[in-house]
Amino acid sequence: MNGLGAGMDFDYDLLVIGAGSGGVRAARMSATYGAKVAIIEEFRVGGTCVIRGCVPKKLYVYASRFSDQFDIAGSFGWQVDASFDWPTLVANKEKEITRLEAAYTANLEKPGLEIIKDRAIVTGPNSIRLVGSGREMSARHLLVATGGHPFIPDIPGAEFGISSNEAFDLPTLPRTILIEGGGYIAVEFATIFAGLGVDTTLIYRGDCVLRGFDEDMRRGLEAGLTARGVRLIYQTTIASLDKVGDAVRANFSDGVSAPYDVVMFATGRRANTAGLGLETAGVKLNEDGSIAVDAYSQSSVPSIYAVGDVTGRAQLTPVAIREGWYFAETLYNGKKLAVDHSVIPTAVFSEPEIGVVGLTEDEAATHGDIDVYVTRFRPMQNTLSTRSDRMILKLITEKDEGRVLGVHILGPGAAEMIQLVGIAVGMGATKADFDRTIALHPTAAEELVTFKAPSYSYRDCKKVA
Ligand code: NDP
Repeated sequence: MNGLGAGMDFDYDLLVIGAGSGGVRAARMSATYGAKVAIIEEFRVGGTCVIRGCVPKKLYVYASRFSDQFDIAGSFGWQVDASFDWPTLVANKEKEITRLEAAYTANLEKPGLEIIKDRAIVTGPNSIRLVGSGREMSARHLLVATGGHPFIPDIPGAEFGISSNEAFDLPTLPRTILIEGGGYIAVEFATIFAGLGVDTTLIYRGDCVLRGFDEDMRRGLEAGLTARGVRLIYQTTIASLDKVGDAVRANFSDGVSAPYDVVMFATGRRANTAGLGLETAGVKLNEDGSIAVDAYSQSSVPSIYAVGDVTGRAQLTPVAIREGWYFAETLYNGKKLAVDHSVIPTAVFSEPEIGVVGLTEDEAATHGDIDVYVTRFRPMQNTLSTRSDRMILKLITEKDEGRVLGVHILGPGAAEMIQLVGIAVGMGATKADFDRTIALHPTAAEELVTFKAPSYSYRDCKKVA
């Protein structure tokens, strides 16, 4: 039996709550397969990724990288007299996301599904109520795709800080900013603001940014951020904030205080499940508040599914899209498909940029005997200048030219390279397969196929030269 059943007992086959990456894909594909679908969104169509995440972030990263280009332009003979206007960037970003929002909306309307601008509350396994209009709706299946929101630590004066949501639309470019966190958002925004000329400080409770990433990537990024002028304060948190005139004063856990124009929290994101009525319907939540689902995105209530950030699996747009797509395949196209979350290429759009697929060195070393190949060099674009930034490429393989277990790249173009090398890693390519590939010269990526002897190895979990 497939999931089509509207007209029998229910108003719809499927009601999707949330028009972000996962919800939009699931709704559109389900409608294409003949389901009667409505999608309910309380904010803007497009979700975090389009409206206040990946898309505007990448645009701002581009904006911030001009300073690097201007920095080295002189070494190529250019004279550049540059200045930056924040309101122009904000306005142009807004134009672009408005265009994308319209495109998303048009794509949703194409297969004939209904878009409802309201807030939905789940009232039972097959029913919701719209908060604005009071309308009750029923469906054979509900899909919760409500995403997440920034988590702000519960400290006195937290309301004087902002999150990434507000950072995109600050009325003026701050002169100074303090960013708390050591994850994706903290280092990406530190990159953006430092590149735009803002005096930037990053405060992190750990001892090096990007916990969980390969150590070489972490240390390489740390060096890159420092070279860009980002001040790093480790093993410290913001204990409280207060307002002093126009500035926000941050009082640190070590007793030091300092004023900033803006203080931003980038301390993780949590699932949007509060006030959704999920408990009423009997949906089980994980400890962090996300919805517990099985491999097919089905919750503990068989008629209720969930995809994307709200499930707390991998908080990444392409993963949400894949989960939404496979949900539609499973329910409405007779193909039971589960998303493989084991090999997910990921990138951090910091400066330097990081791209990663597969295991870190520490993880791989516990999986058996491995060889590690690492190279560090100045990107060619910088060789005419005095810049000393280093690019790092690292390959982790099973011993003796066996399967490639992990690829880690830090430097220009890392994200683009990892997207492609991810295909090979996903297919189970070996070091010998990489070596058979003819190098493309002059590129940075050619280093991945020209490694000779390992830099070092691990045997019985022990590092050997
Ligand atoms: P992350 O989970 O990546 O990082 C959160 C950071 O905040 C960590 O450094 C964490 O420290 C720290 N932290 C958590 N709680 C506290 C606290 N109470 N006090 C002080 N510090 C705290 O979350 P982000 O907010 O950076 O991003 C959310 C998610 O969004 C990412 O995990 C990623 O999946 C996704 N994302 C992806 C991007 C991409 O693909 N390029 C870009 C942006 C976001 P600790 O390390 O000690 O736990």
